[in-house]
Amino acid sequence: MNVFSVEGVAVERCSSCSGIWFDARELSQLLEQDARQVASLRRGRDNQQLEGKKGFCPRDGSELLRVYSSINQSVIIDACADCRGIWLDGGEFEKLFSARQL
Ligand SMILES: [Zn+2]
Repeated sequence: MNVFSVEGVAVERCSSCSGIWFDARELSQLLEQDARQVASLRRGRDNQQLEGKKGFCPRDGSELLRVYSSINQSVIIDACADCRGIWLDGGEFEKLFSARQL
């Protein structure tokens, strides 16, 4: 995982699958930002091979739950019930970001 900072928020990105981990509230915080500020998060490709693969929370090791995002129901996100962190696969931030502007 590579840690980098976007608008004062530290986010972690997996170097092999380009998925991004957000701690609770970080995702909604970043979705409110100007498009240019979060450009680095919007890159990334869907990785079909990871489809259906179960993930675990990098914080507490709990199994992540696959749920429909309240922002864009066509996007399935992986959420941790314990710490409320959210895992987005590559390209999913872009989908949520576009949806919030509708
Ligand atoms: Zn967790």
